[in-house]
Amino acid sequence: MSSKHAPVMVKPGIGYFPGSVNIGLVLGKSGAIIIDSGLDTQTAKKIKKGLDELAQPLKAIVQTHAHADHFGGNAHLLSVFPEAQVYAPPLEEAVIRYPVLEPIYLGMGAAPMAELTNKFLMAESSRVDTLLPIDGEVEIDGILLRTISLPGHSWQQVGIVVDQICFAADGYFGVDTLAKHKLPFLVDAHDTLLSLVKLLESNYEGYLPGHGPFEQSIERTITHNIHCHRRIMDRIEALLAHDELTLEQGLAALCAQLEIQIDNMTSYVLYRTAYMGYLVGLSREERISYRFHDNQLLWKKR
Ligand SMILES: [Zn+2]
Repeated sequence: MSSKHAPVMVKPGIGYFPGSVNIGLVLGKSGAIIIDSGLDTQTAKKIKKGLDELAQPLKAIVQTHAHADHFGGNAHLLSVFPEAQVYAPPLEEAVIRYPVLEPIYLGMGAAPMAELTNKFLMAESSRVDTLLPIDGEVEIDGILLRTISLPGHSWQQVGIVVDQICFAADGYFGVDTLAKHKLPFLVDAHDTLLSLVKLLESNYEGYLPGHGPFEQSIERTITHNIHCHRRIMDRIEALLAHDELTLEQGLAALCAQLEIQIDNMTSYVLYRTAYMGYLVGLSREERISYRFHDNQLLWKKR
């Protein structure tokens, strides 16, 4: 039996629904546990069909972090599987319950502009029933899940490990995804690098990122991710050695170097937040500092 809705199984009882956002699948004693739920109702309907073909009811949705493309399927799935329980890390869970927080924080805390309340930045709201430990264990439907803290891409992102298979969420990106993004989204480049080292030093049987292929060994992919972030940090440091720059000026200079063309509000706020995440990382590594001049916040190399 195989259909376009069938999951890819990597070992008995563990697999994933492949897509632009991969959705992890673990078969429990009485039903299915999924890890994240994709972007929207359309994705959720595909998951529902896949579960129907397996004759498995949905028992739980385990969230890795609160980006709209990872929990946007919840609302539909919970409408068809009302008994399913939702698990999420602390802090991330607040955004899942109040998705308007995402366009709010991306918009620097101001009331969200209408252009930012689209499905890529604001999913439908979902309940969260249980908080996940940040580095710990949780048993769901007879299955032991380990959580590993992978902050950096999001504040309190966790990876999920089941029977030596690591669902690493956006702790790293597939090589193609990384090349496409050019300036990957993150909130703290330093934490992102620490999380990558943590993954590099781990030794699970297989790894699935949120965006990219399943791999048994991720050494090359992780090294590629580390180099990508280090190169961007070096570029920013070099720009700030040359000139003192405001955030806007630095972002524009970096985008010109990376051949990024920003032409809409959604891309703009994502890139701006990522750029700020690199500035935060460089500050934590004591490579840059700032001063105020003529009512401007100017960043410079130390
Ligand atoms: Zn994400």
